[in-house]
Amino acid sequence: MNQEQLVAELKNIVGLKEVIHKPDDLIAYECDGFTIVRARPRAVVFPNNTDHVAAVVKLLHNNRIPFIPRGAGTGLSGGATPINGEVLISLVKMNRLLSVDFKNRTAVVEPGHVNLKLTNAIAHEGYYYAPDPSSGMSCTIGGNVGENAGGPHCLKYGVTSNHVLGVEMVLPDGEIVTLGGTVPDMPGYDVTGLIVGSEGTMGIVTKIFVRILKKPQGVKTIVALYDSVDDASQTVSAIIAEGIIPGALEMMDRVAIEGVEAGNYPVGYPKDLAAVLIIELDGLTVGMEAMAEQIVDICTQFHVREVRVAQTDQERTLWWANRKTAFGAMGRISPDYMVQDGVIPRSRLPEVLQRISDISVESGLRIANVFHAGDGNLHPLILFNAANPGETELAVRVGSEVLQVCADVGGSITGEHGVGIEKQRDMIKIFTPEEIAAQVEVMRVFNPHNLCNPDKLFPKPSRCVEVKRAAHTH
Ligand SMILES: Cc1cc2nc3c(=O)[nH]c(=O)nc-3n(C[C@H](O)[C@H](O)[C@H](O)COP(=O)(O)OP(=O)(O)OC[C@H]3O[C@@H](n4cnc5c(N)ncnc54)[C@H](O)[C@@H]3O)c2cc1C
Repeated sequence: MNQEQLVAELKNIVGLKEVIHKPDDLIAYECDGFTIVRARPRAVVFPNNTDHVAAVVKLLHNNRIPFIPRGAGTGLSGGATPINGEVLISLVKMNRLLSVDFKNRTAVVEPGHVNLKLTNAIAHEGYYYAPDPSSGMSCTIGGNVGENAGGPHCLKYGVTSNHVLGVEMVLPDGEIVTLGGTVPDMPGYDVTGLIVGSEGTMGIVTKIFVRILKKPQGVKTIVALYDSVDDASQTVSAIIAEGIIPGALEMMDRVAIEGVEAGNYPVGYPKDLAAVLIIELDGLTVGMEAMAEQIVDICTQFHVREVRVAQTDQERTLWWANRKTAFGAMGRISPDYMVQDGVIPRSRLPEVLQRISDISVESGLRIANVFHAGDGNLHPLILFNAANPGETELAVRVGSEVLQVCADVGGSITGEHGVGIEKQRDMIKIFTPEEIAAQVEVMRVFNPHNLCNPDKLFPKPSRCVEVKRAAHTH
């Protein structure tokens, strides 16, 4: 099918204005938040409902044209980047909140529904949607399902997979299926669990059944300032070891603090600080005061320079705005930066941060650490200047070395940003070839012709073997 025919057929399905195909218009869709790799899609199509998605997918499937589901494009591992000139199926126009059942604490949304809008829409009844990525103002719940997104409050409440009860999905051949539903614990395999985090390689989610939660009765936010990263790390371990599970437990190191203080929401942290911890308690107000005092005590045991409990909502909001906009704020102190995303056992935090610091010194690239310390989910931000020859490649190498450190201590190469194209090669740091092959087999059950987001997630050599095998069997 030539380009002209394809565009005409797509317009026929979704409407004249819902297809982008002129080369210049496609530039905006060359990448997601992982900007190091860019490639132009063949077209971008904006379906308005599930039938549109199914018809578009059937057309592409029948003509063996590869395609990729795309939400807001805020992904940080290149999951929505069209490296093979795929057709992008953008879900941003399917953004309705379809229903809310307060009694049963569930809601049904379309995939393009922006994360924070769900909480805003149900706040008047005292409810909220728990997964809260820092990109919540723009990322979509469909994209959250794709990446199994997390966020600061996932320490206590869990990541996206803990809040998705079911999905409606268009399979890569255009069939529509519903997996799970609004009641928990459906019989049979947990196929919904398989879809959440599958990075758009198994089909296109067109409806999502989610849990909603009652807002906690009270919240107390504590900020603790340290002269040593080691002391801050020990504090994190000690709080959890005491049996306290805060709603959030976030940490920023010196370079990160320099960035956020240059950003749009400066708190006024002293310039010579080594680390900041934000510790948020939430839940019943009874006993919360005592727990906050206990945390202050623990901070003191680890030589905290200063520890403050937020006195007003305004103060708390500023601390969070400062933290949540940290990635963007790095742009103020470096021309370019790359966000890494690894997970480690919490108790290894001091040692891992030391090794990251060594990598920074050896490579000559500054690394800012801003992360969900409570669940051991690190986000080293590697600062570089793409204008300097070889520095982009160096940053990529440094990122991979950091992930090796995470793997060495029994951690993982991604906590919430996915593998996409960025970390395909890093998969072998934590999986054997057999383990990867088993995952590819599962993917193929859904996506036998490798049309739906091809060449993502799995390392290339194993994919080549698979593609060869597929060529023999289909
Ligand atoms: C400043 C900033 C802060 C961030 N903070 C966090 C954070 O705290 N926690 C966190 O987890 N992430 C964070 N992210 C990463 C990103 O926002 C998340 O990964 C988010 O889930 C991506 O959503 P999206 O709508 O932008 O999806 P996209 O980037 O468009 O797509 C992401 C993946 O999901 C797939 N996909 C999209 N829609 C569908 C669908 N309907 N069906 C099937 N697959 C689909 C795509 O193919 C792709 O593989 C941050 C990003 C930025 C830029």
